[in-house]
Amino acid sequence: PSTLLRITDLHTHFTSREGVVRAVDGVDLTVPKGRTVCVVGESGCGKSVTARSILQLVDRPGAIAGGRIDWRPSTDAAWTDLAKLDPRGEEIRRVRGAEIGMVFQEPMASLSPMYTVGDQLVEAILLHLPLSKEEAHERAVAQLRRVGIPQPERRMDAYPFQLSGGMCQRVMIAIALSCDPALLIADEPTTALDVTTQARILDLLKDLQDQTGMAMVFITHDLGVVAEIADEVTVMYLGKVAEHGTVREIFDEPKHPYTQALLRSIPTMRGSDRLERQRLAAIRGMVPHPQNRPAGCPFHTRCDHVIAGVCDKQDPPLVRFGSEHLAQCHLYDQQGELTAAGAGAPA
Ligand code: SF4
Ligand code: MG
Repeated sequence: PSTLLRITDLHTHFTSREGVVRAVDGVDLTVPKGRTVCVVGESGCGKSVTARSILQLVDRPGAIAGGRIDWRPSTDAAWTDLAKLDPRGEEIRRVRGAEIGMVFQEPMASLSPMYTVGDQLVEAILLHLPLSKEEAHERAVAQLRRVGIPQPERRMDAYPFQLSGGMCQRVMIAIALSCDPALLIADEPTTALDVTTQARILDLLKDLQDQTGMAMVFITHDLGVVAEIADEVTVMYLGKVAEHGTVREIFDEPKHPYTQALLRSIPTMRGSDRLERQRLAAIRGMVPHPQNRPAGCPFHTRCDHVIAGVCDKQDPPLVRFGSEHLAQCHLYDQQGELTAAGAGAPA
């Protein structure tokens, strides 16, 4: 499939008097048309900031400090570097919603409590499509039906507080997809929901993707969700890409010790905060604060295979294991074989 989005060496920094936090520190990410790329990692790894950078939605004092975000909604359109657009300008506003939709973790926080579901949906439609009020209303009802909301005509008059968390997330998806974007960015869209509702929302997103051919960038900390929905997976750690591959490559032949550690922690990874804490305990040590980024490989303070004098001093090389399968780690040579120093590490 053709490429919709190509992020190259993206840097997004938060600058304050205390210093510079490199939340995103040289990320590459490619999204082919119609495919789902999951970005996975612990909280603070930069996955949300990467997602928000695409649409120039990084909150101050954060800002894109370098790199390219090349976007082309269809093969007959021209490429646009979204990283160069004014965050408050016309051009990025046209892209948001019309070309790229976005849903967030907290549907209640994204919807206005003061307006009905219908008003918010109609407003999103009229922002981008040249329709009459009546036509927009009809399209809004059709959107609610499409995302599986029962009695959509009646629900148009509901306020967000009258709906369950799952229904609110369906409304957010209806809004995000109301102008048929080529890409949906979903940042932990099911994390705040119970397990049953989470499964239904994932099914809905897969169905909608089948119907529309849209691509998805799906941000999650949950490898169970990744297994459900991903075509490709990018594993992030401290603002960098540790590993990228197809979902099969990541689950069957993980190369980076961080990916391997995440996979070992899967059985404890479903749902609640309590389980989340158990999972974090499963990987030895704490994620360093991004302001005190370790030299060399960012994972070396927690890695069981750290090569002393190498991993803590030199940036790891980018190693290619397959056409899409890449990892940044000192354990491998350029042919993707374990080096002498890396021997003994489980590959
Ligand atoms: Fe571990 Fe070294 Fe590989 Fe980093 S580069 S993941 S510290 S072995
Ligand atoms: Mg996040």
